[in-house]
Amino acid sequence: MKPKAVITGLAGQDGSYLAEFLLEKGYEVHGLVRRDALESPEDKLWRLQPFLSDLILHASSLDNPGGISSILAKVKPRECYHLAAHSFVNYSFEDDFAVMAANLNTTLFVLAAVREVVPECRFYFAGSSEMFGNAPVSPQNESTPFNPRTPYGISKLAGFHVTKTYRDAHRLFACTGILFNHESPRRGLEYVTRKISHAAARISLGRQSQLRLGNLDALRDWGHSADYVRAMWLMLQQDRPDDYVVASGVAHTVREFAETAFREVGLDWKKFVCVDPQLYRSPETRPLTGDSSKSRTKLGWAPSVSFEELVSIMVQADLKEINRRSAACSNGIHGFARD
Ligand code: GDP
Repeated sequence: MKPKAVITGLAGQDGSYLAEFLLEKGYEVHGLVRRDALESPEDKLWRLQPFLSDLILHASSLDNPGGISSILAKVKPRECYHLAAHSFVNYSFEDDFAVMAANLNTTLFVLAAVREVVPECRFYFAGSSEMFGNAPVSPQNESTPFNPRTPYGISKLAGFHVTKTYRDAHRLFACTGILFNHESPRRGLEYVTRKISHAAARISLGRQSQLRLGNLDALRDWGHSADYVRAMWLMLQQDRPDDYVVASGVAHTVREFAETAFREVGLDWKKFVCVDPQLYRSPETRPLTGDSSKSRTKLGWAPSVSFEELVSIMVQADLKEINRRSAACSNGIHGFARD
């Protein structure tokens, strides 16, 4: 019989790559998605389109514990990946109560349901480098003290502790992956990486003239989402549950990202990028760079996509998509929305 996995947050960037990865591994993949996503799949499920028919979707809101329990009872998964969260860091200051309450409550609901209904199920919680916040040391690893600086980071740290408590007190096989920034063509346009790749593609095609960015000196440790979901799966294949940092270990500035993206389309970034102080964030935390030695040693994990390759993949995907859409429009066909 096929192993079964349930993914919350299936329609997001990581959910889509994880689903694809698990399907390739022969899993029966179930996903929890909001009802409105099922009603407009071309809008809300665009990341899943190429393999949507291979997935089993369940309409469920994560703030309904009864609904989560009944899906788990019906599916009886071997693995449960809890990825759903309010995830755009910058917004979390604007609506801190909603972000913290939703992220913590849903993690609690899913863990409690796993414990009650399928206690043998292996559970993955999507932690984040934002849990380190203004870290006292760099690079950060599993022993670095947490010092979150955003409601999002606080909510992820709370989820981490809840996950650890279920592991220690209730003997669940529960792991947290502390993932540093991971990007892809399936990123939303609100993130700086996709904002840049999309703009570089559009500018090279003469559809945009300028790109406004915030802090060009901001540093991030960026990897490719497809590499990072592999680490999630590896965590759940170990003999014992544990927590792991997953990161490339190399930080690059937003400026370097822009420079590399514009170079990909043969343009000089300086001619098109302008700094908009309104896009600066406050407070910008100390640069986060991950030390993923534990993942590399214990899980045998290593990223396969370099920074330059990531930027190139994203820009080329945006170019292809913009051209595909133009061709579809001129033929009167409407494709799936991608942002
Ligand atoms: P985050 O790491 O989850 O906050 O990912 P983002 O892609 O939103 O931001 C990464 C870094 O890029 C942050 O330090 C931002 O301050 C910086 N940045 C600079 N310009 C922009 C911009 O125009 N949009 C966004 N989202 N971030 C920007």
